[in-house]
Amino acid sequence: MINQSWVDIREDLEATVGKNNYVNWIEPLELSGLDNGVAVFRVPTNFMGNWVSRNFGDDIVQLLKSSGQAVSRLEFSVNAARSPKRATAPKAEQVSEVPASSAPRKKAAVARSTGTVPGAPLDARFTFDSFVVGKPNELAHAAARRVAEGGEVAFNPLFLYGGVGLGKTHLMHAIANQLRTQRPDLNVVYLSAEQFMYKFVQALRDKKMMDFKQIFRAVDILMVDDVQFIAGKGSTQEEFFHTFNALVDQNKQIIISADRAPGEIKELEDRIRSRLQSGLVVDLHPTDYELRLGILQHKTEQHMLKDPSLHIADGVLEFLAHRISTNVRVLEGALTRLFAFGSLVGREVTLELAQDCLADVLRTSDRKITVDEIQRKVAEHYNIRLSEMIGPRRVRTIARPRQIAMYLAKQLTSRSLPDIGRRFGGRDHTTVMHGVKRIEELRISDSQIEDDLELLRRALEA
Ligand code: ADP
Ligand code: MG
Repeated sequence: MINQSWVDIREDLEATVGKNNYVNWIEPLELSGLDNGVAVFRVPTNFMGNWVSRNFGDDIVQLLKSSGQAVSRLEFSVNAARSPKRATAPKAEQVSEVPASSAPRKKAAVARSTGTVPGAPLDARFTFDSFVVGKPNELAHAAARRVAEGGEVAFNPLFLYGGVGLGKTHLMHAIANQLRTQRPDLNVVYLSAEQFMYKFVQALRDKKMMDFKQIFRAVDILMVDDVQFIAGKGSTQEEFFHTFNALVDQNKQIIISADRAPGEIKELEDRIRSRLQSGLVVDLHPTDYELRLGILQHKTEQHMLKDPSLHIADGVLEFLAHRISTNVRVLEGALTRLFAFGSLVGREVTLELAQDCLADVLRTSDRKITVDEIQRKVAEHYNIRLSEMIGPRRVRTIARPRQIAMYLAKQLTSRSLPDIGRRFGGRDHTTVMHGVKRIEELRISDSQIEDDLELLRRALEA
């Protein structure tokens, strides 16, 4: 009965999610049963389960419901026997033992004879082992792992995007590093979009376009980092598009990164944009506190293997994870300086030492808190409406939170008193001044207010 429903709604799903998504994600699902409102599906990999649940979960639940099934939730269990990981692993081993005269080797030799292999060097430190996984990057990590298995091309291209310093380059190098050791038969090329353009321009100038084309067409796995760089660069874009198409047509894996989603890259030709979107697009979200702490702990452990005398006091890493922005590169820079400092002074790095030694980093990475955020957080905390916070009522239960919000706005933002007044329903700056004074007095006499302020400040700075 439930299975018949699934067969029926799959057709509706195809209409909702589109042919491509249907073939990639929905078709491989096997409904194994319905238990207590939970529909259980068998999937080939965890990654797939996560992906389907995130992207199509609601649609599936809705459709099952409307077909008369009492479903409230989906669950995905990995069907080990059909896992592609197992299916391809032995093959990968075999391939890597193939003697040097085999076909793929010849292809690499061709590439070499027509010019230098076009990739950029890889950073050996950027591996999957050194990549710390958390909620904000788990999908990107899973997709990268999948591609690094070097099995059948599952999604083409894999498009990774996210802000600066969130690990795009690290993941790409990790894929390339793993493939180069486990699949030395494959011609894996990693380069930045800027280097691609440079090589292209050079080939044009030296009249070696044929070589250029041949080299890139002989690649098995192509990775182009920071592709937003070629936006607006007409002929480079054009050539990139041809290279891209030639490789996709040969079923070669392509991995692209950018600092934003394909749809948001301006001055990119529409046909290129739509090709970039045609595979799997995953984003790296800004780091959260847990991930930052995880990265700091991992890197500290690694460093202590080399320098066992290093001693970092409890609470220092937590403090850094709390205070430093979402960019992992800044976090690493701070840690490197802390390590150097620790070995120079030759004693435990306390919180005070850390604050001193990183004063400039801490100042610039202070997140900008807005008056709006403060008003919302404070209203939430005291359970009043945002409109009341800004409105005219002067009863204590509303006026006090309003004064607290004014006080925090003065403390945590660089706004002037008149400016703050305007944001509180057009109040006069003397009203704000009075509010701020009042809270300053109350902080001393009323420990509840002091606690509330501390709590709010932490929540706002998180
Ligand atoms: P992006 O290319 O997105 O700008 P990178 O990949 O260059 O960022 O990452 C910046 C630095 O932060 C690198 O040194 C990288 O190793 C490190 N890094 C980023 N994310 C992680 C992570 N999840 N675990 C460990 N190190 C990370
Ligand atoms: Mg990068």
